[in-house]
Amino acid sequence: MPYQGEIANKASHSDIVRNPDVAAFLKGCTYLREPSAEEAQTISARFQVIPPTDGTELPNYVIAVDGSFYEASITERLPSTRIGFIKIGAVLIDMAQYKSLRVGPFVDPFRVAELQRNNSPLTFAVPSANIRTNGKASVRDSFRAAVDEQLVGPRTRFNPEDGRSSLRTTLFHLAARRAGPLATGDSTRLRLHACPNPECSNGPIELMDVPEQQFCPYCNTEVYPSDCLRVWEEVTDFQSNATALSRLMLVIEHMLPMHYLRFLLENSPQVLGSTAFFVDGPLAIFGNGAWLHGGILRYFAEVNAQLEQRGLPRIIMIGLQKTGQVVDHIKLIDRYVQPGRIFAIDDDFRYQFILMGGREPAENGFGSGTYYGQDFIYKTPSGRIFCMALPYPVASKTEFGESFKTTKTQLSHYVELPRALALIDHFESDLYENAVIPIALAHRYTAISLQPGGKVLDLLTRRALAQIGT
Ligand SMILES: [Zn+2]
Repeated sequence: MPYQGEIANKASHSDIVRNPDVAAFLKGCTYLREPSAEEAQTISARFQVIPPTDGTELPNYVIAVDGSFYEASITERLPSTRIGFIKIGAVLIDMAQYKSLRVGPFVDPFRVAELQRNNSPLTFAVPSANIRTNGKASVRDSFRAAVDEQLVGPRTRFNPEDGRSSLRTTLFHLAARRAGPLATGDSTRLRLHACPNPECSNGPIELMDVPEQQFCPYCNTEVYPSDCLRVWEEVTDFQSNATALSRLMLVIEHMLPMHYLRFLLENSPQVLGSTAFFVDGPLAIFGNGAWLHGGILRYFAEVNAQLEQRGLPRIIMIGLQKTGQVVDHIKLIDRYVQPGRIFAIDDDFRYQFILMGGREPAENGFGSGTYYGQDFIYKTPSGRIFCMALPYPVASKTEFGESFKTTKTQLSHYVELPRALALIDHFESDLYENAVIPIALAHRYTAISLQPGGKVLDLLTRRALAQIGT
């Protein structure tokens, strides 16, 4: 994600706050503010000493995923005719190679520049305002077709010849494991809640993981497996589609690590056991595709169970937030928190100190329909503070009912926590800002292109085989 929340014109912003009418209005508002001395004490008391990280083995590989999107007019003369682009950067950091880039405490900038040239992100192009493709009836239908075509296309495949190595097949794996009646329990089938044709809307519709075009059994209109993401519902024919683009970017950012997980599990589980993933933002999916979070959580738990059976360590997956309410909050409390402390944010705390917008009617607590990971505030031994997330240590939130709210905040349930903290500590020394560790690192200092289907995964697999051989 691009950096957000920066105020373009600071002078005009302070003018607004100085305006007496605005100042009077703000007096009656509840908003995030500096904690009082008493509150600061309550807050800092919630932090615990971190578990020991000495002697923790770091992973051999780190994969960092970050996305951005933009909507462009096709020419200056047609500003309202637009195409959307989503770029997802996925970089692989070989920890041994990363160490070799160092010259004393610094990273050799020339060698880094050389490596960065090899990074080629995955780009999706979709029709936006006032553009239709291939005789489709609307922008929305064109968007649906384009998304599906690119998700199943050769660029997302680990093996260009095999459609089932595509990102779309990974979507089948996740959708099969979703919560509720739309789950199929079979990774070759998924269900759409309803037909996307507004004149039909019958459902659910079951689709197979096959290359052929599939049709609604009620109205015979074209339907696509990726319709289940429901991003198309936010596409408009004539307005900006920034919301739909940001939703699509978000689901791909979170599906991509699962895609690598699937590939590595099938091809070299021992490499998977020594790989860590960094994603940008909280471990959560918002919008109509939010259901995907449940499929990710279950898939992640299943992969971990398989690694455990083979005596391999759990996967480290870390969501790191650079913006948002929690990040705003940690800036306010930073000075009250001692180094080497961590706090798993619980619901009561979140609603008391961070979220001023009001409690949401959530059955299983905060983020019940969106989050698959727990937020932590972590202050490193050297004093940098981060908002990081780890996947919930369960396959499903509903299995725990009410007690999930307390289960999710117990540090002892996060077996991989010491390794995750050690990894953050390892990377922090090279950073200029607190909130941007892995992603900035990925962009700035890395590494090898990790286009799905690219040579890097072959390379990983070969290295894994070589390791077994020794
Ligand atoms: Zn239909």
